[in-house]
Amino acid sequence: MSEHRIALVTGASRGIGRAIALELANEGFDIGINYNGSEAAALELAAEIKKTGARAICLKCDVSDSTACGEMFKRLAEELGAPSVLVNNAGITRDGLMVSMSDEDFEAVLDTNLKGSFNCMKLASKYMIKQRYGRIVNISSVSGIMGNAGQTNYSAAKAGIIGLTKAAARELAGRDITVNAVAPGFVVSDMTDALSDKVKEAVTAQIPKKRFGRPEEIAKAVAFLCRESSAYITGQVLCVDGGMSM
Ligand code: NAP
Repeated sequence: MSEHRIALVTGASRGIGRAIALELANEGFDIGINYNGSEAAALELAAEIKKTGARAICLKCDVSDSTACGEMFKRLAEELGAPSVLVNNAGITRDGLMVSMSDEDFEAVLDTNLKGSFNCMKLASKYMIKQRYGRIVNISSVSGIMGNAGQTNYSAAKAGIIGLTKAAARELAGRDITVNAVAPGFVVSDMTDALSDKVKEAVTAQIPKKRFGRPEEIAKAVAFLCRESSAYITGQVLCVDGGMSM
C-alpha cells in the first residue's frame, strides 16, 4: 500500500461526490467526507466506507468560506492525516436567463464552485508541497466547455475551474503534484432530477450515447487521475459526457 492514502472529497454527501468517495475508498484511500447540509447522508456514507476497511471522517464545511476551509483541513490532518488527494466536487446551480439573473445567484454559484475549489486547492497544496506529492481533480462540466443557456453563472464558474486547473498545474508540476479537471456531461443526480422531463428529453437527444451518465462512471475517471501511475497527466480536462462536447 502506498504511503499516499488520504483523500478529501468535497460535496461527498450525495450524487457524484458520494460515488467518488466510495471509488477512492475501494482503491485503498482513507476518506475525508466534506458536506455542507446533508449530515445524515454523510454519516451513512462514512459507515458504508468503513465496511470496505478504509477510515472515514465527516467534515461539515461550506467550501466558499475560506476560514471554515482552513478549519476543515486542520481537522483532516489531525484526525486522518495530511491529504495526498483532493477532489473538488462541491457544486450548486442557480439557473435562470442572464437578463433576469440576480447578483446573488451569480455570486453564489461562483463562490461555491470556483472560489470553493480555489480555497481547498490552496490549503491542500501546502500539505502536498511538503510531501512533494499530490493529485488534485476539479469537477468542471460540459457547461463550462460548450456554454449552456440559462447557466451563465454556472458555465462561467465551470470554465473558470478549467483555467484554475491549468494555472495550478503549471505552478505545482515540479513537486509531483498533478492538477486535472473532469468535465461530466449530464449525470443522474439530485442536480439533474430538478430538470423537467421535456428538458431531459432535449438534452438526451444531443448526447451521442443517448443517455445520461451515472455517478459511478464519473468516479472511475476521477479515480484514474488520482492514481500514482497517472503522474505524467497534468493540466488536462477529461470529458466524461457520452460524447456530448466533441
Ligand atoms: P448534487 O447531487 O446536487 O450534490 C452536490 C453536493 O455538493 C452535495 O454533497 C452538497 O452537500 C455539496 N455542496 C453544495 N454546496 C456546498 C458547499 N457550499 N460546501 C460544501 N459542499 C457543498 O450534485 P451532483 O450532480 O452530484 O454534482 C457534483 C458536481 O458535479 C458539482 O460540482 C456539479 O456542478 C458537477 N456536475 C454535475 C453534473 C450533473 O449532471 N449532475 C454535470 C456536470 C458537472 P450537502 O448536500 O451536504 O449540502
